[in-house]
Amino acid sequence: MRLTSAGAARTVTGSCHLLEAGGARVLVDCGLFQGPVELEALNAGRLPFDPAALDAVLVTHGHLDHVGRLPLLARLGYKGPFLATAATREIAAIILRDAAELQREDHERTLRKAMRAGRAHEVQGPLFTVDDAQAAIARFQPVAYDAPLEAAPGVRVTFRRAGHIIGSAYLVVEAEGRRLVFSGDLGNRQSSLHPTADPPAGASAIVLESTYADRTHRSLEDTRVEFASVIGRALEAGGNVVIPTFAVERAQQVLYELYRLKALGAIPDVPVYLDSPMATRVTRIYRDGLAELQPEVATVFARGGDPFTPPSLRFTLSTEESKGLNEIQGGAVILAGSGMMTGGRVLHHLKHNLWRPQASVVIVGYQAKGTLGRALVDGATSVRIFGEEIAVRASIHTIGGFSAHADRADLEAFVAASPEAELLLVHGDPEAMDAFAAAQRAAGRRVRCPELGVTLDV
Ligand code: ZN
Repeated sequence: MRLTSAGAARTVTGSCHLLEAGGARVLVDCGLFQGPVELEALNAGRLPFDPAALDAVLVTHGHLDHVGRLPLLARLGYKGPFLATAATREIAAIILRDAAELQREDHERTLRKAMRAGRAHEVQGPLFTVDDAQAAIARFQPVAYDAPLEAAPGVRVTFRRAGHIIGSAYLVVEAEGRRLVFSGDLGNRQSSLHPTADPPAGASAIVLESTYADRTHRSLEDTRVEFASVIGRALEAGGNVVIPTFAVERAQQVLYELYRLKALGAIPDVPVYLDSPMATRVTRIYRDGLAELQPEVATVFARGGDPFTPPSLRFTLSTEESKGLNEIQGGAVILAGSGMMTGGRVLHHLKHNLWRPQASVVIVGYQAKGTLGRALVDGATSVRIFGEEIAVRASIHTIGGFSAHADRADLEAFVAASPEAELLLVHGDPEAMDAFAAAQRAAGRRVRCPELGVTLDV
């Protein structure tokens, strides 16, 4: 079998791997590169394979860095289906439409500027349009967990629960008498929403994500204590509590943790606003996907509660309702995106709350270098929002324990059931990857780190 990386090679984003086995060509994921300009430039670059010649495309989960280039495949001549779980199809539909809208807005803004400068002819079109996204969404074909299927002649695939986000899967691919595992993204065993993946046995090779391969997450118990204390102190201060959240998984996790705190009487019954139409839609998918979640979450439902609807939860869907929140001076918990504060409704809430000493911002997710979120974590005393200088007087709290990704121990547990398997590390920064590779090699394991565009025999 031959493996070619078309993304997430020595970097985290852009997941896309071609497997050639028994004369068939099967692609696993086709995601967007995200981050610095040079990296994002790769999205419009040539793929190291002909999309029209693919026999099947398998999709591990709905995050943009795994699905964001699927619309290009369809446009470049791929005629077959995108095989994924039903929940992945629903998440991908939300994510792809949102990405197409953002690209359209971005393109229009760039074009207006270029026109004023007399350079409109230099502006490239968006990577994909809303119509391209729609066409890609229509290609999704749902598959069940744990039910082997013939993805291409001689290539058998089983989707197994990965515990990362709703619908997420790792793939067991059997071809040429060998068993190759694609981890996709694996979940955190400390997740209060998703049960841990059952590790695959008897694999000959594992294409393994390594996002947090050099880290150990805090325990769920400790994270819950920290979250309760931070929210409690923030509410006591009297201002609003702004929680920037990713729409998928983190928003649902925070809603559930707020539900628990209110049910336990640990925090007062203050109003909670979910100010994100996207997170509201994703929350519905979580509610429908109960069977996939931790038994603890299902128990809340069985007792007649709704773990994603803490008391006094309000959904603000229209822009007018969202703007109405700017009038609230204190005592409200506001969840809004984007998670790294690079755009979206959260910017308005930051503009109206950051300068107030009694307000709080509770950061519950990873903040990449160069983002507004990172500036706040790093202690900026003033920031620019919508071209306006805003003083940072609010308290900034960071809760590090919420993560949707496996840590080092999770990854070790995942590969432990296949002691003979070679590891092919992808989806990680070089430092994390190299640390994990060194430890695994020291324990006698064969490890390679595929490079972009290079084909390996596996
Ligand atoms: Zn992911």
